This record gives sequence, structure tokens and C-alpha cells, in this order.
Amino acid sequence: MIQVENYIGGKFVTLSEDFDDISPLDFSIIAKVPRTKNVDDAVGAAKSAQPDWGALSIEQRCDWLDKIANELESQIEEIARLESLDTGKPHHVALNVDANRSVNNFRFFADFGRRMESQTFQMPDATNYVVRKPIGVVGLISPWNLPLYLLSWKIAPALLMGNAIIAKPSEITPLTAHFLAKICAQIGLPEGVLNIVHGYGPEVGQAIVEHPEIRAISFTGGTSTGKIVAATAAPMFKKLSLELGGKNASLVLDDADLDIAVPGVLRASFLNSGQICLCGSRVLVHSSIYDEFMERYLEELKSFEIGPVISDEHRAKVLSYIELAKQEGGTILSGGSVPNKQGAWIEPTVISGLSHDSRTATEEIFGPVVTIHKFESDEEAIKIANCTQYGLAGSVWSKGRGRKVAEQIDSGMVWVNTWLHRDLRVPFGGVKDSGVGREGGMWSLGFFSEAVNICVMED
Ligand code: NDP
Repeated sequence: MIQVENYIGGKFVTLSEDFDDISPLDFSIIAKVPRTKNVDDAVGAAKSAQPDWGALSIEQRCDWLDKIANELESQIEEIARLESLDTGKPHHVALNVDANRSVNNFRFFADFGRRMESQTFQMPDATNYVVRKPIGVVGLISPWNLPLYLLSWKIAPALLMGNAIIAKPSEITPLTAHFLAKICAQIGLPEGVLNIVHGYGPEVGQAIVEHPEIRAISFTGGTSTGKIVAATAAPMFKKLSLELGGKNASLVLDDADLDIAVPGVLRASFLNSGQICLCGSRVLVHSSIYDEFMERYLEELKSFEIGPVISDEHRAKVLSYIELAKQEGGTILSGGSVPNKQGAWIEPTVISGLSHDSRTATEEIFGPVVTIHKFESDEEAIKIANCTQYGLAGSVWSKGRGRKVAEQIDSGMVWVNTWLHRDLRVPFGGVKDSGVGREGGMWSLGFFSEAVNICVMED
């Protein structure tokens, strides 16, 4: 049994009240997690540490990020093991997606920081210098689907820009954040620069968002939670970055190369059991290739390995959508049932015959469930793709018209003939109800700093 502890001011702290962390693989209790309700100690530690941390040169902070990356990399198998235990995902996903990308996040921002160029704007009689100052103490809140990957995506740029951090992973997946805290303690990261607190979202998450001395909130999670976060933070004029839900479409045009479209769309449908905000949970296929595409897609699905979903509670939500799909007139082409084994397992499920504006086809399910829709023209496919409240991501599969169609999709990110191909320099984020702001590369550094202009009159 693992005892998860809060990491505050460089010390590991347990609380008298804790709760169980349950593995979705078999519902066994794998850890005890402190139930934190207020963050005053963590904010105090962060406030004490921030001035010295902010006073280091950017190169020195880049060196710290590299030290964290090196240490994480040396224990990459352990990260994958913990992530797999906590989320149930297959080892190869935990290793290649979660663990590797967590290391890369620190490494990338270290490299990026070293290459950062100062901005100046010359006038005929004066020079403007842009100075990027730390915000101070920032709050980082992340979900359970890619636990360390999404948390480190925020921690690395926040540290790089000289902030001190209060971070909260999801209560359901605390293990790798705790592991990161141990690594930071081991390498001697200055105390109080990174504080990690555990507990329930409406308690400790809310306490972070409400705390007046936490001046920026970077939140990744569901759209309904994002609304609460925004409503709480806005009256305090906190900087706010919201990475929220999605209902992304994969558009398979009539000229698609099915040798790459079938495995690509399948991966977008079911990687991480469909629990990636970028997953393509709506598959739109041109009627002329529909039969061939579906035959190959369903055949390849038979050998696609997925883990359970994150919890029994989440499985109940996903199953309720499968029931809804039946009521809405959908046909289950594959899956739809619960396998006869312990844990939060659901068969990967493919549903056709639903209207593109049905609830099943427009609400975020966040599980291994996709709806299939036929279309007759590019215009119709674009219209269907754009008909939800969300606008996070999407993919287009076409030999010749991918880019043209991609530009008409109302989403923050669209891939053409690929999916989840990530360059960490590019803007990441959603439009409509999928979020506010962008992270990634310069966008992250902009969010985690205050750009101050100094205008110097020439002699
Ligand atoms: P939630 O919104 O339930 O939770 C996200 C985080 O917010 C968790 O740490 C949660 O804590 C915390 N939280 C809950 N209530 C509050 C509150 N009142 N104040 C502050 N924090 C709170 O999302 P899930 O964890 O269920 O994650 C799935 C969602 O995340 C999906 O909608 C998915 O699309 C979205 N997502 C978006 C991404 C993006 O980049 N756009 C990437 C990945 C996921 P706790 O877990 O302890 O309740």
C-alpha cells in the first residue's frame, strides 16, 4: 500500500484524514491519499520560495528542468508502472505516451527557455524592451486521463518563468505526482518552489482557485468544472487558462488512403480507452467508401488493446450513453457490453445510425465509444464536424483536400492524415466550450509570465 503525501515547502506531510486510491484494473485499494482542504501552508511555502527562484537566471532554471528530466528518465519504467496501476492503461501506453512525454515536457521547456529571444521594438527615438516577469504563485489543476503528462506540461513552463507552484493532480490518480515530488526532493529542488497537494476537487481544487494569493490558474478538466473555476477566479482577475472537454470528429474523405486512415482513425478512437481529450469520438465517413472503411475498421478493432476506463463510476456514465444511443435509434456495430472480469472494463463500442445532432453524438462521453456518420460532400462533413458546443481537435483523412477542409473546422487543432502528432512549440487549446487560451511553447511562457514593456527614450 502506497502512502501518498502532500509535498509542501520541501517536506512530505500526511494528514489525519485520507481516502482510498482504487485501481480500475481490479478495484483493489492501492494507496491512501491525504484529504487536503486548505492550501494556506502550501501558499506560504510558495511565497517564501518564489523571490529567490524568480531571481535565478533563465539558464539556471533550465538546468533545474533538465535535472528533473534526467532523474525522471532514469526511472521511466517506474513512472509507467505507477501510471498503469493508477489508470489501468496498458504498459506500452503508459510508457510511450505518459512517461516519455512527461520527461519530454521538462526537456522541451529547458531547451525552449535557452533559445528564448528577448523582444525589442525600435521606434525612431526610443526602444521598447519586453521584460517577462514571473507572476508569483500559480495554481495548476489537472485531470486523471494523462496524469503526469498533463501536470508536467504545466509545471515545466511555470517553473521556467520563475513562478512557485501549488499543483493538484486528480484525486483518482495521485501516484505519479507524488513520485515527481520525491524526485524533486531527491535532486534538491529549492524547497517551496513546487508544492503538491492532494484531495478532492471541490475541496482542495476549489481552495486553490479561491486563494487570493494564487494569481494564475491553469486548469485542465471537464467543461462543467471549468465553468466553476472561471466563475470563482474571474472576480479576482486571476490569469486563467482553461483546457476543457471535446467531441472531436475524424473526417474520412472520399479520396482517403485507407491504409493509413483505418489504423489512424482507430487509434484516434480508442487510444487510452478513448479517454484523451483529443480522441476522435465521432467518425465521419464519405458514403462512397463507407462499406470498405467500416469493414476494415471493425476488423482492425478486434486486435486493438485497450485498458479499463478510469473507475466504476465513470464506467456507469459511459454505459449510460450506450443505453441512450439505443434509445436514440443507434445500432451497436461492435462492443456495447461489460466483459466478465473484475475492474472497470467496457468493450470498445462502435455505434452507427444516429443522427449527427443526437445527444450521444454531441455530448462528451470520454470513453471507448464512437459514433459513425455517413456524409455525401466535404461541406456536409464540415457542417457535422462543427455542430457541437466543443471545438478542441479533429482530424481529416484525404490525399488532396485535407488542408482545405481542416481550415474550415472550428477547432483549436486539426491533424491531416495523422493524429496526436505533437510538436510542443505549437499552440494547444480549444475554441467554443473547449477552453480559453493556449498552452505550448511560447504560449505557455506567455501565460506563466507578465510581459512588461520598458520604453527607453534615446539621448
Ligand atoms: P474534472 O473537471 O472532473 O477534474 C479536473 C480536475 O479538476 C481534477 O483535478 C479535479 O479534482 C479538479 N476539480 C474538480 N472540481 C474542482 C473545483 N470545484 N475547483 C477546482 N478543481 C476542481 O475532469 P476529469 O478529471 O474528469 O477529466 C476529464 C475531463 O478533462 C474531460 O472533460 C476531458 O475532455 C478533459 N480534458 C481536457 C484536456 C484538454 O487539454 N483540453 C486534456 C485532458 C482532459 P478531482 O479529480 O480530485 O475531483
